[in-house]
Amino acid sequence: MIKLEKVVQRFYEGLEEGKFLGRKCPVCGNVEFPPVYACNKCGSYETEWIECSGKGVMKSIVMPAALSSKPEYAAMGPFAYGEVELEEGACFNAVVKGINKRKRKELMNKLPVPVHAEVFQRNGYKTVVFALDEEK
Ligand SMILES: [Zn+2]
Repeated sequence: MIKLEKVVQRFYEGLEEGKFLGRKCPVCGNVEFPPVYACNKCGSYETEWIECSGKGVMKSIVMPAALSSKPEYAAMGPFAYGEVELEEGACFNAVVKGINKRKRKELMNKLPVPVHAEVFQRNGYKTVVFALDEEK
Protein backbone atom coordinates (compact mmCIF):
# COMPACT_ATOMS: atom_id res chain seq x y z
CA MET A 1 0.00 0.00 0.00
CA ILE A 2 1.16 3.48 -0.86
CA LYS A 3 1.87 5.54 2.20
CA LEU A 4 0.27 8.87 1.51
CA GLU A 5 1.29 12.04 3.17
CA LYS A 6 -1.22 13.16 5.73
CA VAL A 7 -2.20 16.26 3.80
CA VAL A 8 -2.66 14.34 0.56
CA GLN A 9 -4.67 11.69 2.39
CA ARG A 10 -7.01 14.26 3.92
CA PHE A 11 -7.43 15.84 0.50
CA TYR A 12 -8.58 12.52 -0.97
CA GLU A 13 -10.83 11.86 2.01
CA GLY A 14 -12.38 15.23 1.23
CA LEU A 15 -13.05 14.16 -2.35
CA GLU A 16 -14.82 11.05 -1.06
CA GLU A 17 -17.10 13.43 0.85
CA GLY A 18 -17.50 15.61 -2.25
CA LYS A 19 -15.42 18.40 -0.72
CA PHE A 20 -12.56 20.31 -2.30
CA LEU A 21 -10.12 20.92 0.51
CA GLY A 22 -7.32 23.43 0.31
CA ARG A 23 -4.91 24.90 2.83
CA LYS A 24 -5.15 28.52 3.83
CA CYS A 25 -2.28 30.44 5.33
CA PRO A 26 -3.42 32.54 8.31
CA VAL A 27 -0.30 34.69 7.99
CA CYS A 28 -0.70 36.00 4.44
CA GLY A 29 -4.10 34.60 3.41
CA ASN A 30 -2.67 32.59 0.53
CA VAL A 31 -4.67 29.48 -0.44
CA GLU A 32 -2.94 26.36 -1.69
CA PHE A 33 -4.95 24.02 -3.88
CA PRO A 34 -4.35 21.18 -4.36
CA PRO A 35 -3.17 21.45 -0.76
CA VAL A 36 0.47 21.43 0.25
CA TYR A 37 1.62 21.59 3.83
CA ALA A 38 3.51 24.86 3.82
CA CYS A 39 2.51 28.18 2.33
CA ASN A 40 4.29 28.72 -0.99
CA LYS A 41 3.98 32.46 -0.69
CA CYS A 42 5.44 33.25 2.71
CA GLY A 43 6.79 29.86 3.81
CA SER A 44 4.60 29.57 6.89
CA TYR A 45 3.99 26.03 8.17
CA GLU A 46 0.87 27.00 10.06
CA THR A 47 -1.62 26.55 7.24
CA GLU A 48 -5.12 25.32 8.01
CA TRP A 49 -7.83 23.42 6.15
CA ILE A 50 -10.50 25.29 4.27
CA GLU A 51 -13.24 23.97 2.03
CA CYS A 52 -12.97 25.54 -1.40
CA SER A 53 -16.08 26.25 -3.42
CA GLY A 54 -14.53 24.65 -6.48
CA LYS A 55 -15.54 27.70 -8.47
CA GLY A 56 -13.00 29.57 -10.49
CA VAL A 57 -11.93 30.74 -13.91
CA MET A 58 -9.82 29.13 -16.59
CA LYS A 59 -7.18 31.55 -17.81
CA SER A 60 -5.42 29.56 -20.51
CA ILE A 61 -5.99 26.40 -22.53
CA VAL A 62 -3.40 23.91 -23.71
CA MET A 63 -4.46 20.91 -25.76
CA PRO A 64 -2.86 17.65 -24.67
CA ALA A 65 -0.15 16.50 -27.05
CA ALA A 66 -1.48 13.91 -29.46
CA LEU A 67 1.16 11.41 -28.43
CA SER A 68 0.46 11.63 -24.73
CA SER A 69 -3.04 10.20 -24.85
CA LYS A 70 -4.26 9.58 -21.35
CA PRO A 71 -6.21 6.33 -21.17
CA GLU A 72 -7.25 7.04 -17.58
CA TYR A 73 -9.23 10.03 -18.83
CA ALA A 74 -10.83 8.21 -21.76
CA ALA A 75 -14.16 7.88 -19.95
CA MET A 76 -14.32 11.64 -19.60
CA GLY A 77 -14.26 12.48 -23.31
CA PRO A 78 -12.29 15.40 -24.77
CA PHE A 79 -10.30 17.54 -22.36
CA ALA A 80 -7.54 20.10 -22.26
CA TYR A 81 -5.16 21.44 -19.68
CA GLY A 82 -5.88 24.85 -18.34
CA GLU A 83 -4.53 27.34 -15.86
CA VAL A 84 -7.32 27.58 -13.31
CA GLU A 85 -7.66 30.23 -10.63
CA LEU A 86 -10.10 29.45 -7.83
CA GLU A 87 -12.16 32.23 -6.30
CA GLU A 88 -10.18 31.51 -3.12
CA GLY A 89 -7.10 32.65 -5.01
CA ALA A 90 -5.21 29.41 -5.66
CA CYS A 91 -3.81 29.11 -9.17
CA PHE A 92 -2.73 25.82 -10.74
CA ASN A 93 -2.83 23.69 -13.86
CA ALA A 94 -5.84 21.42 -14.12
CA VAL A 95 -7.60 19.03 -16.44
CA VAL A 96 -10.66 20.73 -17.92
CA LYS A 97 -13.13 18.46 -19.61
CA GLY A 98 -15.39 19.13 -22.57
CA ILE A 99 -12.76 20.91 -24.63
CA ASN A 100 -11.75 19.78 -28.08
CA LYS A 101 -9.80 21.79 -30.64
CA ARG A 102 -12.91 23.51 -31.96
CA LYS A 103 -14.09 24.40 -28.48
CA ARG A 104 -10.67 25.74 -27.61
CA LYS A 105 -10.77 28.07 -30.61
CA GLU A 106 -14.19 29.29 -29.54
CA LEU A 107 -13.07 29.86 -25.96
CA MET A 108 -9.75 31.53 -26.70
CA ASN A 109 -11.42 34.93 -27.29
CA LYS A 110 -13.48 34.63 -24.12
CA LEU A 111 -10.81 33.82 -21.56
CA PRO A 112 -11.00 33.80 -18.63
CA VAL A 113 -14.12 31.62 -18.59
CA PRO A 114 -15.92 30.34 -15.47
CA VAL A 115 -15.28 26.72 -14.50
CA HIS A 116 -16.15 24.52 -11.56
CA ALA A 117 -14.48 21.52 -9.94
CA GLU A 118 -15.91 18.04 -10.18
CA VAL A 119 -14.87 14.76 -8.63
CA PHE A 120 -13.79 12.26 -11.26
CA GLN A 121 -13.53 8.56 -10.54
CA ARG A 122 -10.32 7.31 -12.08
CA ASN A 123 -8.84 3.84 -11.73
CA GLY A 124 -10.22 3.25 -8.27
CA TYR A 125 -9.47 6.63 -6.79
CA LYS A 126 -11.04 10.02 -7.10
CA THR A 127 -9.40 13.05 -8.56
CA VAL A 128 -10.39 16.62 -9.37
CA VAL A 129 -11.22 17.74 -12.87
CA PHE A 130 -12.79 20.99 -13.97
CA ALA A 131 -15.77 21.59 -16.24
CA LEU A 132 -16.99 24.68 -18.03
CA ASP A 133 -19.87 26.37 -16.23
CA GLU A 134 -21.75 26.71 -19.52
CA GLU A 135 -21.81 22.90 -19.84
CA LYS A 136 -23.92 22.55 -16.69
ZN1 LIG B 1 1.56 32.54 3.74
